[in-house]
Amino acid sequence: MSSFGGRMREYPWLSLDRFDRENLRARAYFLSHCHKDHMKGLRAPSLKRRLECSLKVHLYCSPVTKELLLTSPKYKFWENRIVALEVETPTQISLLDEASGEKEDIVVTLLPAGHCPGSVMFLFQGPNGTVLYTGDFRLAKGEAARMELLHSGTRVKDIQSVYLDTTFCDPRFYQIPSREECLNGILELVRSWITLSRYHVVWLNCKAAYGYEYLFTNLSEELGVKVHVNKLDMFNNMPEILYHVTTDRHTQIHACRHPRDDDYLRGNRLPCGMTSRNGTPLRIISVKPSTMWFGERTRKTNIIVRTGESSYRACFSFHSSYSEIKDFLGYIRPVNVYPNVVPMGSTADEVVKIHFLLKNQIKSPQGLELLPSLYKIPVFPTITSVSIPAPLSKCRGQKSFAVLAQKASVRGEGARVRNLISVTETLLQRKMFLLSSIEFLLSLA
Ligand SMILES: [Zn+2]
Ligand SMILES: [Zn+2]
Repeated sequence: MSSFGGRMREYPWLSLDRFDRENLRARAYFLSHCHKDHMKGLRAPSLKRRLECSLKVHLYCSPVTKELLLTSPKYKFWENRIVALEVETPTQISLLDEASGEKEDIVVTLLPAGHCPGSVMFLFQGPNGTVLYTGDFRLAKGEAARMELLHSGTRVKDIQSVYLDTTFCDPRFYQIPSREECLNGILELVRSWITLSRYHVVWLNCKAAYGYEYLFTNLSEELGVKVHVNKLDMFNNMPEILYHVTTDRHTQIHACRHPRDDDYLRGNRLPCGMTSRNGTPLRIISVKPSTMWFGERTRKTNIIVRTGESSYRACFSFHSSYSEIKDFLGYIRPVNVYPNVVPMGSTADEVVKIHFLLKNQIKSPQGLELLPSLYKIPVFPTITSVSIPAPLSKCRGQKSFAVLAQKASVRGEGARVRNLISVTETLLQRKMFLLSSIEFLLSLA
């Protein structure tokens, strides 16, 4: 679940994946993909009013994202203000400050994010350096190395900051089987069931969000059976998906939904109510694609786990695993990394942990292996200013940091910063992560 505030330190007049509060003043908007947690404020009356007054403000996204967004009438008012940018095509855009008339050019490149249809990462190049916003992403190991536009000639571009999808940046998710492995697991289960008879039916218990299309199209292609879904008008201009899904209930693979679909299933019925034409009872199994559930297992499991008489869990992830993130950062080696995702229930001390983790990753890709497995994902606080009155070189001893932390003059969200400092001190007492913790505080300044 994204908790990114919308703005990057280097280009604060752009807003990405957040459209409320201070983002209402942005000079340009960017949408990485059509998931609700990345669309906060996008159809709010306040933003609508802003658009009516500021005729030069646009929303940039991929052509597929534009298509999906405009399927919903709630976003129709954006229609003439969306600029669909082709993926992997650097594009220069001029950002106008309407108040001062000041103009600045920036080059943006959309890179495929492998998360759901239309999902992209944004690479910005401009006067304040090159920065990469990943949105939500799933990149397999080595994929960054194959992205030509992340490179200048043969070497990777100098990237100042990465704003990173840290959903599974947690050692519990060290290794998530690849997309192909997960797909093959599900494919074999579905195949073995539906070939038993034509009354054997599979219900894919997928959440109502984009991202499962990859699964549907592959199952349909391999098994020659279309997948029943509630609606398909959003795919009207995407024949590669449209061909594999159907609103005809008479099929053996279903991904349809009903508000009470669990009740339906307990009664051995499909959410769409489909029955066989001659009255023979259907034999239904449900398959629930999950990632969290697998991460919570203490023992190693298979890709498919049977959880009941006729229910299964299947491993399936839209987000990069811990080791994929590690590989990605180790390859592009940015100066800064900022996590975009905070799961529920995280606390401030996790900020310091994750930051250390990411920083350390950049410096020494092997270092991560040594960390205890209790790391969770951080809260990322809004801090306007922290200053520590000494050069970093003097911060090597435990004592000197304690003194520094006391001396630190802190402005902004005072209590939170103080909390951070005390957390850092605690880590120091345990002789953990001295320099990087200090660097973390400094990087917030
Ligand atoms: Zn997403
Ligand atoms: Zn159905």
